[in-house]
Amino acid sequence: VDLQKDSDPMHIVHVTAEMAPIAKVGGLGDVVTGLARACLMRGHTVDVFLPFYECINKQNIKELTLANTYNSYYDGSWIPTNVYRGVVLGIPVLFIEPSNNFFKGQSVYGGSYDELDAYLFFTRACLEWMQVSATQPDIIHVHEWQTAGLPLLYWDMYQYLSLQKPRIVLTIHNMEHYGECRQEQLSKCGLDGSTYATEEKAMDDRTIGHNPERLSLLKGGIVYSNAVVTVSPTYLKETLCSGWLSATLIRHRDKYFGILNGIDTAIWNPATDAFLPAKFDANQIEGKKICKLFVQRGLGLAPEARDSAKMPLVICITRLVAQKGLHLITNAIRHVEALGGQMVILGTAPDARVGREFEGLAELHNQGPSIRILLMYSEELSHMLYAAADIVLVPSIYEPCGLSQMIGMRYGAVPVVRKTGGLADTVFDMDDQSNPEMANGFVFEGIDEGSFNWALDRAFSYYREKPDEWRGIVKKVLQMDNSWNNTAGKYVDVYNSVRVRDR
Ligand code: ADP
Repeated sequence: VDLQKDSDPMHIVHVTAEMAPIAKVGGLGDVVTGLARACLMRGHTVDVFLPFYECINKQNIKELTLANTYNSYYDGSWIPTNVYRGVVLGIPVLFIEPSNNFFKGQSVYGGSYDELDAYLFFTRACLEWMQVSATQPDIIHVHEWQTAGLPLLYWDMYQYLSLQKPRIVLTIHNMEHYGECRQEQLSKCGLDGSTYATEEKAMDDRTIGHNPERLSLLKGGIVYSNAVVTVSPTYLKETLCSGWLSATLIRHRDKYFGILNGIDTAIWNPATDAFLPAKFDANQIEGKKICKLFVQRGLGLAPEARDSAKMPLVICITRLVAQKGLHLITNAIRHVEALGGQMVILGTAPDARVGREFEGLAELHNQGPSIRILLMYSEELSHMLYAAADIVLVPSIYEPCGLSQMIGMRYGAVPVVRKTGGLADTVFDMDDQSNPEMANGFVFEGIDEGSFNWALDRAFSYYREKPDEWRGIVKKVLQMDNSWNNTAGKYVDVYNSVRVRDR
């Protein structure tokens, strides 16, 4: 794509715990990589600071070189720290590698070190490197609680040293993770933790009045950043109306923005996707049928018979956690079966009890003709399922943005979603007369099975009884643009609104 360059380019630095594909756990990793690439293409200078996790496969980093060794403060001593430079998917990355045990282990999270200590060290080490190397970006963009301590360190320490130009933007991807932090833990990175234990600063809103010891890095980050972004306009409204941070967010309302995430349309492209047995796009849709047959055959599902009722294929690709609406997912299995459709669930359950429940369901259904429950993580399968699906299901209880519905649409799967967060901003009901131009799926509001069934029933009846209209929706979702091209500009506007211009 020939993207227009922005006038007045700036230097943007991301400080993050995740980056796709080398250190990805969830959506955070995708967002950093997608947004960084989009800003590079718009003509900005972009760097990403990432902990040099031991688990990162160095083969996936181009031009990896040791740039320098410097010392960064932690808990009374100065820790020798390596900084490496490398390139990931065209994005320059600085890898911070302390000589202690931080970030050692076989996975991004869950090593044997204390995560809070390690990320506080990391955020200070990033600022220390900028100080040592005289790097003054226009924008330091931090993400989630892991790096939300950076604005505190910047405004209360490094700003008094030589870093004066940068302004700080914080993106909150999921409000549930608050970075609980005791005063003395914050003090380990060189700040005086006790000075943050006020309601206006970083005291955890849930413990005000009975536990001044408990701070929240995420709250401190909101207070101390120049702008705060969350990942959809509806999630922004929801977090202002309820939830433990609402009072803080209301106080900072005028610097709080909701910007939808984009999807990477190079990785997710049904016209070129190497995982698919046949390619397709909005104008050449035949390949999608081949993908469906391929998946049905591969999973031992009954192929559609010419004379029987038409069988839509429903998919649900998700982490199996409470947020995702587990009771609605299990209800969907029953209801799809009752309606005579087919359903494939691809998911992993971090919680053992949930895992056992779904293993039980898999045993019950996986030999039958219409339901498959696949308890694993597979990038390849996910591509094939999105391509094969008629319907993509996202019945989340809450969903800050949600990528699954956007990816599904890109592959011509019609979304059935609960009206919450980013789902409410990307999916609009076919039967909502007030908004026919946007209509692209089926939406329900309640968290009860009846509400869900009603939406699925309507999707099935469109599929079976109004094939022309169904083809219209499929074509429409295939043509939607949920890429970063569309939304990175909104981030650039936020950056521009806070940056300090050279005189
Ligand atoms: P969250 O970030 O809360 O997990 P999103 O919908 O924003 O939810 O992003 C989920 C992403 O992870 C999507 O790209 C989805 O396809 C992918 N995904 C989730 N579970 C699996 C799985 N078991 N196998 C492959 N991909 C998965």
